[in-house]
Amino acid sequence: MTRVGITFNKNHHLHDSLLNGYPCPENPGRIKIILDYIEKSGLIDDNNIRFYDASPAYVRDILRVHTEQYVELIKACAKDPCQNPGKDVYVCPSSFDVVLQAIGCVLKAGDLVMTGECSHGYAIIRPPGHHAGPDSCNGFCIFNNSGILARYLRDVRGLERIAIVNMDAHASDGTYAAFESDPNVLCISMHQDQKTLYPFKGFIRDIGVRPALGYCINMEMPTESGNSEYSIFYDEIAEKVLDKFDPQIVILECGFDSYYKEPLANLNLTVDGYYRIIFKLASKWNVVSLLEGGYHDDLGLLASVVLRALSGIGNIEDEVDQVDLLASRRVKTRKEFNNNLSLLKNRLEPYWGPWDVLKG
Ligand SMILES: [Zn+2]
Repeated sequence: MTRVGITFNKNHHLHDSLLNGYPCPENPGRIKIILDYIEKSGLIDDNNIRFYDASPAYVRDILRVHTEQYVELIKACAKDPCQNPGKDVYVCPSSFDVVLQAIGCVLKAGDLVMTGECSHGYAIIRPPGHHAGPDSCNGFCIFNNSGILARYLRDVRGLERIAIVNMDAHASDGTYAAFESDPNVLCISMHQDQKTLYPFKGFIRDIGVRPALGYCINMEMPTESGNSEYSIFYDEIAEKVLDKFDPQIVILECGFDSYYKEPLANLNLTVDGYYRIIFKLASKWNVVSLLEGGYHDDLGLLASVVLRALSGIGNIEDEVDQVDLLASRRVKTRKEFNNNLSLLKNRLEPYWGPWDVLKG
């Protein structure tokens, strides 16, 4: 069995803000540097890690999450470059075809896992999706890629317990909006303190609504949080809740903007931090990882780390001097983190506690 199947939307370059006359950090160069890096990495072979083709999705796939009016709005915006469907979102004449192909790649990555062809899937797609809610969008996202996959897996593949984990620097507000009352889908988002970063949503107190209270989890990571804070959150809360929820599949919203070189955020994950969490997820569950944000030069390096973690290959040596990174971290960060961790544990206690007797 192939361990990891990769898909990517080959027409992604047709979604480009330059076609509308202005630059944007979310541009075709992002996937190009990832594919170039992976090609040179030597990771691709016919046994362990390989590419798969995908067909475009159907509008009915999108409608499992989004309203018909919103889909029509996106189509109208594609015809008129002066129209924008949301803040920091651009739509070009071919964008609708691009998103159908991107979602097709996401569904194919899910199907590779569901059919047993692969243990894990990795959809390298753009535009990203986790800020897109049922009838609105923001932050470079048009349709909610992870949510559409989750609903497909439920409606078409019959799954009853699906987890969506966000490790993008930005809160997964669109996904939250889509699933806040759906107890079939557990959403865990670890993101930079939303008081300091767009979309300024995703508070610890936000835990979903009935009948899914406790099924949406938001961890506010203080600015400058790094590998150790992420590991502690994963070990002490995320993994324990996942164990108890017992997902049949995990969808990972894997943005690369929590990385220490990211210009649009202020977190300190390194390749070790990404590898550890993804490796731990993939050692217990089938994972479909989706590209979300990330706007620096090391996207290719991090995509190779995702492939290594999913396929169980050892990580590359972390180029960051951990001592320097730790020395630069403010004591305030750890103090705020510990405070947030304890607030979140208390908030979730009625649903997932007590913490010390959960199997982990
Ligand atoms: Zn992001």
